[in-house]
Amino acid sequence: MANATPVRVRFCPSPTGNPHVGLIRTALFNWAYARHNKGSLVFRIEDTDAARDSEESYQQLLDSFHWLGFDWDEGPEVGGPHAPYRQSQRMDIYKDVADKLLAAGHAYHCYCTTEELDARREAARQAGRPSGYDGTCRELTAEQKAAYEAEGRTSIVRFRMPDEPITFTDLVRGELTFTPENVPDYGIVRANGAPLYTLVNPIDDALMRITHVLRGEDLLSSTPRQIALYKALIELGVAKEIPAFGHLPYVMGEGNKKLSKRDPQASLNLYRDRGFLPEGLLNYLALLGWSFSADQDIFSVSELIEKFDIADVNANPARFDLKKAEAINADHIRQLDVKDFIAACEPWLKPPHANWAPEDFDQAAWEAIAPHAQTRLTVLSDITANVDFLFLKEPVEDEASWTKAMKGDPAALLTTARAKLADADWTSPESLKEAVLAAGEEHGLKLGKAQAPVRVAVTGRTVGLPLFESLEVLGKERTLQRIDAALAKLAG
Ligand code: GLU
Ligand code: ZN
Repeated sequence: MANATPVRVRFCPSPTGNPHVGLIRTALFNWAYARHNKGSLVFRIEDTDAARDSEESYQQLLDSFHWLGFDWDEGPEVGGPHAPYRQSQRMDIYKDVADKLLAAGHAYHCYCTTEELDARREAARQAGRPSGYDGTCRELTAEQKAAYEAEGRTSIVRFRMPDEPITFTDLVRGELTFTPENVPDYGIVRANGAPLYTLVNPIDDALMRITHVLRGEDLLSSTPRQIALYKALIELGVAKEIPAFGHLPYVMGEGNKKLSKRDPQASLNLYRDRGFLPEGLLNYLALLGWSFSADQDIFSVSELIEKFDIADVNANPARFDLKKAEAINADHIRQLDVKDFIAACEPWLKPPHANWAPEDFDQAAWEAIAPHAQTRLTVLSDITANVDFLFLKEPVEDEASWTKAMKGDPAALLTTARAKLADADWTSPESLKEAVLAAGEEHGLKLGKAQAPVRVAVTGRTVGLPLFESLEVLGKERTLQRIDAALAKLAG
């Protein structure tokens, strides 16, 4: 069947809030599945909730997808045969289908008030009966309805669930069965006429001929409802076939709690702002529920597409691990061509990140130091602090570093190191290292201890890029000046 019917998957976020990692992982798996199977990805915007949806959030979604390198075959910006792809522009379609469902008896008007529903739910719970909707309005006569309306009651539209179990084979979880008492009749249109997610999502999946619904586990409980609705839609000639469903595992955050949209760690912007590479982030997110192979965690987007199969997704919750995400990102940084690394860092070498005057930036110095930075960064935003010693007139003043490095008799060490560095060969970091090593020996210090005061004098910090390469790029004159300034400060 997979060969006969081209794969059509969809990604259909609601534009609320900032994009979060759960949403991006779902998009990634759908995209990878579409590309792996040479199928189509439909991008649909589920913006029927005017109170929560925003244009700003919609723009952020588009922007994030562009940044991540996702492309789609139908949807905003590219159009397609099932346009429009924004649900807010498809309201007539939903109204029409809801009317058909009502006319065919697959749905009915429910006049129960919230208070009545709550009271009956509570009574059912106390009696140990299932507490979902009890079917009160299933068989109302025309007179009963007229009486309710005369009372001034409004009604929602409810879908009539069949009185039989629903079984389907989840692509991730295998066969699942839901019994009727666990899937009561559910609302599809609000009293004010607004259609709900429960209605519009399957209608669009049907009309857009979606073959595979891959989405988060949180939506698993809506699947039996949607399957029943699908059957009605097939009967009405709206749908052709029920799609296959696959539910992606939960992502657990800190303390083994479900990562929530509101967790700061869940925000895509956090990773962008910290300078994750899109390919590093996608590599990491792919591992939330999937694995490339037992012994390989690092892969490119094209390798992912080549191998991705929904059947290999693991049903167990995935654990979000920031350290691992960073380690994977570091790997992707190392794999860049130096010139691409240099280009990728550019935003962090400018305002508002740069703490130096823009005119003091020196492209040649940056290009000379870049290869040494490339092997050490986990996120690109760290570049600013790693290279600022080259562009600031004076190194940053970091008291904690100063106190930590200026122990024993730092003035004596720095005086000797300065003299030896003044005589060293400045075309070779090896020679600069020998100078500091020899200075250390004179004072009974190993290289590490001898190096620390020099590093803080020159860069302001105890940690940073390889020292002797740094000194070489900074140059003899500025290095010696900075050691002099540190000596003056030590002399108080
Ligand atoms: N708009 C829904 C959401 O954002 C889509 C769910 C689905 O994939 O069916 O969760
Ligand atoms: Zn009712």
